[in-house]
Amino acid sequence: MIKFNIPPYIGKENEYIAQAIASRKICGDGTFTQRCDQWLESQTHTAKALLTTSCTHATEMAALLCDIQPGDEVIMPSYTFVSTANAFVLNGASIVFVDVRPDTMNIDEKLIEAAVTPKTKAIVPVHYAGVACEMDKIMEIADKYSLKVVEDAAQGVMSEYKGRPLGTIGDYGCLSFHETKNYSMGEGGCLLIRDKEMIEKAEIIREKGTNRSKFFRGEIDKYTWVSAGSSYLPSELNAAYLCAQLEQAQMIYDDRMSSWNLYYELLSPLSETGKITLPAVPDGCKHNAHMFYIKAADLEERSALIKYLKAQDIYSVFHYIPLHTAPAGLEYGRFHGEDIYTTKESERLLRLPMYYGLKPEDVRFVCDKIIQFYQ
Ligand SMILES: *Cc1c(COP(=O)(O)O)cnc(C)c1O
Repeated sequence: MIKFNIPPYIGKENEYIAQAIASRKICGDGTFTQRCDQWLESQTHTAKALLTTSCTHATEMAALLCDIQPGDEVIMPSYTFVSTANAFVLNGASIVFVDVRPDTMNIDEKLIEAAVTPKTKAIVPVHYAGVACEMDKIMEIADKYSLKVVEDAAQGVMSEYKGRPLGTIGDYGCLSFHETKNYSMGEGGCLLIRDKEMIEKAEIIREKGTNRSKFFRGEIDKYTWVSAGSSYLPSELNAAYLCAQLEQAQMIYDDRMSSWNLYYELLSPLSETGKITLPAVPDGCKHNAHMFYIKAADLEERSALIKYLKAQDIYSVFHYIPLHTAPAGLEYGRFHGEDIYTTKESERLLRLPMYYGLKPEDVRFVCDKIIQFYQ
């Protein structure tokens, strides 16, 4: 059987978790949380990285930091995970969806400006499959209309746009360390903060609205309730698991990349004859092999292919149901302009098995079966 995903595990996690337990400090912001934060800061060169309980929660923090108020509008693609929208909906925002580009499935940067209204507060680009959105254009629009930019870089750890790590270009970047992502802690995430002035406020939001972080650093002699906030700090046990993986990030990256490249090579003949479409990586984007997807002709063909692969014990999956067509999407959002690609392309897309440790012979087997299907 070839599973779709196996959570990353390199072997050092047990030792680190045992160390966390032995240290008698298993709540948040201990040694392992700090080691993860420091690794993320040195890897991304951003002002601050704060480990969180999930990418969903990092995005909620970003929404609070952007001071999203009821009635504000937030622009994002409809082809994304529910959390991208929910984080802003919780603060009363209404979501304005725009179409994606068919080549990357990222928000079409050329359609954003027309969706801006006097109520627009933020743009939320989602770097699908760890391939960057066209950030120069997005930042230009944000500057022009004084909008905040929150990057959903859940899938983008170790990816870059023109040499800059994803999640560090906009005001805030949200990373995920869910078990389905390249680097994991079970459930977890990180908020990247670009501007120094926002660090203190972010620490307070993460620590239940208190200035406890300052207290722990010895900067104040008692901590107190200073603003709205919540509990977004992960436990040391989870951070220890992640720490082991971040230290070996390049090894995990290389392993995934070799699977990705092998898929690409073996499936290229099918794409050259026009049977399937392969993912595109635009110039200037360094991706992280988060996902390998192909596109079938249409929904019907994709369903048949999933079934065919499953009969060979290969597990492939489709992805997002466009948010604007979902019950909550209808309630909290609207689609600006025409849905030319979002629905159509999402119905064609099929994700193939991809995880750290996937064997080359398994990639070959999957590709052989896909080629057989099309014969
Ligand atoms: C995984 C994912 C999330 C949510 O991440 P969690 O850490 O599970 O909250 C959000 N957005 C995108 C694009 C994702 O892929």
